[in-house]
Amino acid sequence: MNDPINRIGTRGRARLIVVSNRLPFAFRRDDAGRWQAEPGGGGLVTALLPVLRHRGGTWIGWPGAADYSPDLNEELATVGEDAGYTLKGVFLTAEEVRNFYEGFSNEIIWPLFHDMQMLCNFHPLYWRTYCEVNRKYAQLVHDSSGPGDFIWVHDYHLMNVAAELRRLGSQARVGFFLHIPFPSPDIYFKLPWRNALIEALLQYDVIGFQTVRDRRNFVQCVRALRRDIEFEGRGQVLQATVSGRQVRIGNFPISIDFNAFMRQAATGEVAARAKELHRLLPNRKLVLGIDRLDYTKGIPQRLQAFHDVLTRYPDLRERLSLIQVVVPSREDIGQYRELKTEIEQLVGKINGSFVRPGGWVPVWYEYRSLSRIDLLAYYRAADVALVTPLKDGMNLVAKEYCASSIEEDCVLILSEFAGAAAQLGRGALLVNPYDIEGVADAIHRAFHMSARERLARMRSMRRSVREADVFWWVDSFLRATIARDLRAFPQPDNYSTVEAPDYLSF
Ligand code: UDP
Repeated sequence: MNDPINRIGTRGRARLIVVSNRLPFAFRRDDAGRWQAEPGGGGLVTALLPVLRHRGGTWIGWPGAADYSPDLNEELATVGEDAGYTLKGVFLTAEEVRNFYEGFSNEIIWPLFHDMQMLCNFHPLYWRTYCEVNRKYAQLVHDSSGPGDFIWVHDYHLMNVAAELRRLGSQARVGFFLHIPFPSPDIYFKLPWRNALIEALLQYDVIGFQTVRDRRNFVQCVRALRRDIEFEGRGQVLQATVSGRQVRIGNFPISIDFNAFMRQAATGEVAARAKELHRLLPNRKLVLGIDRLDYTKGIPQRLQAFHDVLTRYPDLRERLSLIQVVVPSREDIGQYRELKTEIEQLVGKINGSFVRPGGWVPVWYEYRSLSRIDLLAYYRAADVALVTPLKDGMNLVAKEYCASSIEEDCVLILSEFAGAAAQLGRGALLVNPYDIEGVADAIHRAFHMSARERLARMRSMRRSVREADVFWWVDSFLRATIARDLRAFPQPDNYSTVEAPDYLSF
């Protein structure tokens, strides 16, 4: 891979230091008391691995273990050696996990940044613990890095790390990527610590967002709070002058390892499982929803739309089934448990209304985590994917579905509030997830769509995901940190918002 980080180091070889809330392995003790490391997988790890191995980099994060003991450090060293880069653990007490991770990160920033301010619990203790824990991460980063290294911090749990690093006197270049959306000023300004957080973000050298819309929201918040800051540039990367320092602000839509998905989806094992699904649910089209249990994913609204399509279009009854997979997540938080109950009641209501003895079941519901093979088989078997979050940073399920649709004959119905809509808006049927009848009409349209239209739409989406895959994402973020001339970053066509509704482009 072309390695833009080569040019970051000022002295000798620059190392890449990746910092995320969790390490890419979760560490747990087995019954015999020995540590077991489970790889987290995911596109981010795959994309960063070549750079980390090549540079001899470091990954810093929480190992996920509640019972820290010194032998975990030995395990981290061994696992890191096998993985080809250094792993360093930030150890958190149970109270820190409660107030920093579950509290500030998931009861304040997660709902607020997804425009769900009424779900926020603005507890002052959460903010204090967030600052303390970010300081802990920064200290370990500072101890593990040199001035020529590039530090890349990920996501909303760690927005204060650069500010804490500056307090420690660090001169290293520090980049930040926000994987979730950034809200508009009307929403952001509800945050009691809005000034401190914006100031902390401006301590980074590069700030990456998923979409132009998130970047615009951030710039508007900065403009409202810091009238002295000037912005220049018009393309993918802008530059702000903050008290004499240059800060780059860009949009870099995260993606997937397209070729790996395509290859695995084409294997005989996946094809056999997909066929098995059609045998179990014969003579009908399959509509698929796969989501983590989360109120941002719009699962109840989607189920209502499915109920509506069966009510208003009786010709689709017995010719359509929804497979809804819900992956367990954050079950310790009350709102998530309530959501699970709501989903199960809706599934019961739909099946109770339409099911026929000995035959058709409208909704096939699974509450579990899928293996990779099962995931790919579901993608391949589905004629229509329903990806309808109320708000989402990107949504990788949408991109994985396109990569796995090797026959190019299926339809993606996509929420216009998913970051992926900016990139896939030309090929997908874009919907407003709050518009129950609109989503139902889109399902009806997908059901009757001609093979020719399905092919044209899916082909264009696959091209777009293939061109801007996760390796492109890493590369373009790292390039933005070093490029001398911002004109090298025009807004690429394949994720411009030209075909999306007007309010998505600006
Ligand atoms: N996924 C998973 N286990 C499953 C089903 C899905 O790990 O049982 C993966 C899926 O392949 C995708 C990710 O979870 O990469 C979901 O990412 P997305 O951006 O769609 O939503 P998020 O859950 O990050 O909000």
